[in-house]
Amino acid sequence: MKAANMIDPGTIDAAPAERLAADFQVVCDHCSSGILRPTRIRTAFWQGDSLVVVRNIPAMVCPECGEEFVADPTVVQLDRLRGRGFASAEPVGQMVVPVIDFGDPG
Ligand SMILES: [Zn+2]
Repeated sequence: MKAANMIDPGTIDAAPAERLAADFQVVCDHCSSGILRPTRIRTAFWQGDSLVVVRNIPAMVCPECGEEFVADPTVVQLDRLRGRGFASAEPVGQMVVPVIDFGDPG
């Protein structure tokens, strides 16, 4: 799973990912060999010192290289949720995540 800032919002046009896939095959922009498949992904955003996980995000994923593409309207919706500090979204669950210290460099 890639970090949210790795999502490329400019790769797919404004049509929802599922509709795009139903209409025609989309070749991966990253590796130029995989045919993108519609799926749902999750990602996490920092909100101050807390992490917020957003799941069930519509996306197109390359089965060859694993690159994930999110359509512009989905990115806008994510930005809107994030801009409100996710206050408008009711949490559907809680996760406990391990925190690891990197230690000394070298
Ligand atoms: Zn690819």
